[in-house]
Amino acid sequence: MTDTTEDYIASRSNVRTYLKQALLDQQNSIVDDEALYGRVKEALLQTDTTLVAHYYVDSKLQKLAEETGGIVSDSLEMARFGANSTARNLIVAGVSFMGETAKILSPEKNVWMPTLEATCSLDLGCPIEEFGVFCDENADRTVVVYANTSAAVKARADWVVTSSIAIDVVDYLDRNGEKILWAPDRYLGRYIQKQTGADMLLWDSACVVHEEFRMNDLEALRRLHPDAGLLVHPESPEEMISEADAVGSTSQLIAAAVSLPNPEYIVATDKGIFYKMQQAVPGKRLIEAPTRGAGGSCQSCARCPWMAMNQLSRLLRVLTDWPGACEVLVDERLAEAALRPLNRMLAFKQSQRS
Ligand code: SF4
Repeated sequence: MTDTTEDYIASRSNVRTYLKQALLDQQNSIVDDEALYGRVKEALLQTDTTLVAHYYVDSKLQKLAEETGGIVSDSLEMARFGANSTARNLIVAGVSFMGETAKILSPEKNVWMPTLEATCSLDLGCPIEEFGVFCDENADRTVVVYANTSAAVKARADWVVTSSIAIDVVDYLDRNGEKILWAPDRYLGRYIQKQTGADMLLWDSACVVHEEFRMNDLEALRRLHPDAGLLVHPESPEEMISEADAVGSTSQLIAAAVSLPNPEYIVATDKGIFYKMQQAVPGKRLIEAPTRGAGGSCQSCARCPWMAMNQLSRLLRVLTDWPGACEVLVDERLAEAALRPLNRMLAFKQSQRS
């Protein structure tokens, strides 16, 4: 097992290649302006299209989703909202597994993304060929995979979970006496294991964004802001999680910012979340958690390079020049197999509500 992001990336050549390309893409991206915003908004409203956006995409896309009847949310709510939408077309502003999930849940809809190149280091770090062998070698375990995986990996799973529901599902399985095989994020896996005490065998992958958060500079920052609460996503290193005032999915962190009494927060997740979090707590100050610590250099710097590929200019091209070019397609048999664990998660969520 490797300990640093560089080692991790170096050990996974496909992650490194994709990350370099994404960082280049970020440098070369067109600056989105107000006029462009207006054109995209008009194009969206003139078509039977719903825009579902993740908290981590650019705030302009989040605003656009809000102003055109779409949603800004975490991956679970994005999937549910998209499936319940009556629109013929869905545009998913996020990363590829979110587009795939939307298509699997809504096969009758046209699902587009601003770019099909936006992937995720967790998805890249869990190729189906190796994962299939891991499952075969541990066939006595219930396979639970994070939503940040390909349709092929989901198709191999018994359960799919998002970070907002993972603890509840694993706890339920543990109480039924089931042993778990978990993939792909090792930090989230360890966190769930600690919270539930479940017997979990972990796949070894990580998020290149959250893995970069470090305690070194955080301690100095906390001395400067002694009243600040620390909000941490569970894909972050254990040392961050153990210091946190709240640990949770994006939606849970926003809820914590509202319910905790602190006047300010240090936030350890992608900085795209600041747009909705600040709306939820307009009177509170939000501070970015430091990455890598003193002397270190960050790769993602708390900004997912793949989420950043979602740009207004690309969205406009999908709506005008490129109809069909960025359409998400999933092999029918794979979609059918992946739908079972996805539906299991949605039914579990529903049973919690009723
Ligand atoms: S922030 Fe991390 S987990 Fe989320 S899409 Fe980017 S690389 Fe994947």
